[in-house]
Amino acid sequence: MPAEKKDKMPSRKERTLRLILGDQLNYQHSWFRQSNDAVTYLIMEMKQETNYVMHHAQKLIGFFAAMYNFAAYLRKQGHQVIHLTINDPENRQDLCDNITYFVEREQATAFEYQLPDEYRLDQQLKSLSKKLSIPVTATDTEHFFTHRYEMGEAKKFPIMETFYRQMRKKHVVLMQANGDPLGDTWNFDKENREPIKKGIPMPAPLLFQHDYSSIWQEIEKAGVKHFGNPRETAFEWPTSRRQSLQVMAYFMDHLLPLFGRFQDAMQKEHAYLYHSRLSFALNTKMLSPAEVVKAAEQQWHAGKAPLPAVEGFIRQILGWREFMRGIYWHYMPDYATRNHFNHQRALPGWFWTGKTGMSCLQHTITQSLDTAYAHHIQRLMVTGNFALLAGISPDALDEWYLGIYIDAIEWVEITNTRGMSQYADGGIAGTKPYVSSGAYIHKMSNYCVGCKYRPDVKTGKGSCPFNSLYWHFFHQHRDLLERNPRIGMAYRTWDKMDAGKREQTLQQAKYYLENIEEL
Ligand code: FAD
Ligand code: SF4
Repeated sequence: MPAEKKDKMPSRKERTLRLILGDQLNYQHSWFRQSNDAVTYLIMEMKQETNYVMHHAQKLIGFFAAMYNFAAYLRKQGHQVIHLTINDPENRQDLCDNITYFVEREQATAFEYQLPDEYRLDQQLKSLSKKLSIPVTATDTEHFFTHRYEMGEAKKFPIMETFYRQMRKKHVVLMQANGDPLGDTWNFDKENREPIKKGIPMPAPLLFQHDYSSIWQEIEKAGVKHFGNPRETAFEWPTSRRQSLQVMAYFMDHLLPLFGRFQDAMQKEHAYLYHSRLSFALNTKMLSPAEVVKAAEQQWHAGKAPLPAVEGFIRQILGWREFMRGIYWHYMPDYATRNHFNHQRALPGWFWTGKTGMSCLQHTITQSLDTAYAHHIQRLMVTGNFALLAGISPDALDEWYLGIYIDAIEWVEITNTRGMSQYADGGIAGTKPYVSSGAYIHKMSNYCVGCKYRPDVKTGKGSCPFNSLYWHFFHQHRDLLERNPRIGMAYRTWDKMDAGKREQTLQQAKYYLENIEEL
């Protein structure tokens, strides 16, 4: 990583300092349409950001590399850029201290920033704005379909399906001329739940082989705590807009046609299956959600991908991604402390190593440590499912998910973890807790083959821990869940079970919880 470049300053009096945060690498933002000698852009690597949670090594490298490429792009376009690197002696390592310092050093007469997506940064910038003696302007990131508080403006905060349909209509995505959805169905989710079958083609993912050892050396030199495999000499993620567009095009041509059918499938041998791997490019804003949605829709119009696949994919971006952002801004900061079930158990140590006899967790965690990635069902129905059934504290879990995934930024991590996965928000992100016994994992993956436990055994030696923990969870939280119409069936099944069997199941769960580190 080269040291900061100090570009020549104009002789004019007006000087605007514009901040670009690490997840604001929007190459198409209107700020950058024209270069202007009176404007200097400030991009900063800071310990404030590397240390607020312990991050996966690839997440640190990915952000630093993408910021470096973005600064280089801006300079090439004729913009003036200060790229403050982590070991620069001028680096105060704190957002507000650095901005204050550069406002003074550059003799800026105005400061501008794009609205941050994280509550914590928003608070910092608001309070700094009050302290600075020059005019401060906050502007939109020009990235999302919705604005921050749009969902909260409705009379009643919507559920995801209602919101998604509104978005389809408003942005005319997969719609017929008469206002009905294409295929006369809004949601093809039921067709998107197949396990992998023999003989189905499995295209290799498009992986880069960047050598980022110089970035990695700087991170290590700065003493930043990290975990996971850095892969610094063969870094696989896209770190520029050009590479992000390549990954998107590859997905559209090779993976999208089968994305829908196998969206929920899991395989030991294939980390990525038919998933797009676009979340890092999207969350850093190197790609816009609108262009990804448009590209997917075009694949259907061109007859290159079936409607259930295209709809399933678009729902994730136009629906879930925007929905999570809406929840975040409507419910923060209170959202970050919600703990509906009052779960307090510590995260088992093996979440940081992958060393457990439960094959599904071992594979998902090991893969996450190795690639900084797990697809949605691995996050939701393996790690998240286990954590919820075991009563892990949502605080501990948020810290883990926020650190381990390359795409993890609080607005989308916390709403997925605390909300969708842990139901700690009491039913805002999802209408019921996503939990299952071992049968679901067995059906949707090949993890159970060779596992120390057996998915078909409910209690006793070798019984799959998910089986007894599942019933223990419902038993324990009966007062909070029984009246949920989407859950009633589980209680009816539990109540019909023989009393002795019920007791055995609860004892088995208790045993597993007491020995959680040894599972
Ligand atoms: P694909 O499966 O190809 O999906 C396409 C895109 O849709 C993704 O790139 C993403 O932008 C969007 N998307 C899909 N599902 C969701 C969702 N539930 N919420 C928001 N966007 C979605 N996603 C993050 O971007 N950052 C996170 O920190 C994050 N943490 C998660 C934690 C948990 C416990 C769970 C259950 C899910 C989390 N997700 C998170 C959502 C989802 O798992 C990832 O977006 C997805 O796995 C990224 O891989 P992909 O790009 O290959 O996605
Ligand atoms: Fe996971 Fe249970 Fe299957 Fe083992 S048997 S892989 S613990 S679901």
